[in-house]
Amino acid sequence: MAVATELDDVYTYIDSHADESLEELQTLLRQPSVAAQNHGMAETAALVEDMLRSVGFEPRQIATAGYPVVYAEKPGQRDRTLGFYNHYDVQPADPLDEWHSDPWAAEVRDGRIWARGVADNKGNIAARVAGIRAWQAIRGELPIGVKFIIEGEEEISSPSLMDFAVSNPELCAADACIWEFGGRDIDGRPQIHLRLKGICYVELRATGARQDWHSSVATSVPNPAWRLVWALNAIKGEDGHVNIPGFYDSVTPPTDAEIEALRALPDHEAARLEDLGIPEFLEGRSGLELHLQDYFQPTCTVSGFESGYTGDGAKTVLPSRAKAKLDMRLVANQDPFAIHASLRAFLDERGFDDIETELLGAQYPARTSPDAPIAAVVAETYEDLYGQSPVVYATSQGSGPWYQLCSQFGIDACTAGVGHAKSQAHAPNENIYVDDFILGIKHICAIMDRFARS
Ligand SMILES: [Zn+2]
Repeated sequence: MAVATELDDVYTYIDSHADESLEELQTLLRQPSVAAQNHGMAETAALVEDMLRSVGFEPRQIATAGYPVVYAEKPGQRDRTLGFYNHYDVQPADPLDEWHSDPWAAEVRDGRIWARGVADNKGNIAARVAGIRAWQAIRGELPIGVKFIIEGEEEISSPSLMDFAVSNPELCAADACIWEFGGRDIDGRPQIHLRLKGICYVELRATGARQDWHSSVATSVPNPAWRLVWALNAIKGEDGHVNIPGFYDSVTPPTDAEIEALRALPDHEAARLEDLGIPEFLEGRSGLELHLQDYFQPTCTVSGFESGYTGDGAKTVLPSRAKAKLDMRLVANQDPFAIHASLRAFLDERGFDDIETELLGAQYPARTSPDAPIAAVVAETYEDLYGQSPVVYATSQGSGPWYQLCSQFGIDACTAGVGHAKSQAHAPNENIYVDDFILGIKHICAIMDRFARS
């Protein structure tokens, strides 16, 4: 295609400066930034500002109730603006003993960069900055206005971003947005996601005696661990059905067009099962039934449970406290706040009023129309650069602040990034391919160029 070759001068620059781009990414990766543990957050925000300053932006940190948002914008030749949404926080690196190299060393091995946060999503921050650097080095002024919103709380469900967006609508304003993640599927084919699931993340706490006691007193002293197990069992039974009243009321069935799109998805079931290390999917689902479950149904997951003694050997103790984390992924048009309120009322009604609940994370599900111009821009540029058309998914199974930053303002968004199916985001040995990182830098230039022409 003509457009791809017209950027050859920029691509040549990117290839000849690949080492510098990789080093800049490694510097960012070697700076830990675990929001959940308040580890290295201020240092990373400052480092991201330095990166943006190095490509001629004048970044600033905008305070929130939590970690600050790094914001920067720069005008371009055309009076339209493309937003880049990213986050500088990452997940905790543990379990550390499952990593083959130090998660903060950013080792390059077998053509891949191995580090916590490289796929999610520091590789994309670095690719976007490097793309802008390359464009400016060869072409001068950017073809369009660009703005960066890089928050520090995505991995803890973006608790401050709604306040940020509502207080700063002019900073969020854009003609379209490129989302923080993206990449190739298990066959190496690029993927596009036009929607995210929402999330309702709740901590449940049960309390018993004043302190842990000898378990012989279990004859007459309540056990908070059992209380919590029974409450969880009431919330979701063995049939997988979520019993919170109204939970499924706002789940909208897919349209005929969406079902057709699901039928057209490539079949990755065998490879996925092998990668997951399980013999079959839940309930033995496959084909369309599996896709419908993955992309159009909500989840209710016990993400953690803690109580009593969990070390080696036996300790005969009656715990005084129990805590569980419940992670619910929502689909259109479920409301995380309404679901939390309904969960609270349900527990009270079922006699679990002693169990405390705290809403730790809430995201509305959000979507972009499949015929949004930015979706075509990303799809066409993927095709030019990767030599194959992307697989278009109606939704990602993940969540993020798409509604806060984009949907509530009517801004279309689309994913594009440097990850791949075995990037292991959130897990040990997170990685991306060096070649994908360099291709991702070119993709940013192609997107800016195509968006300026569209
Ligand atoms: Zn993540």
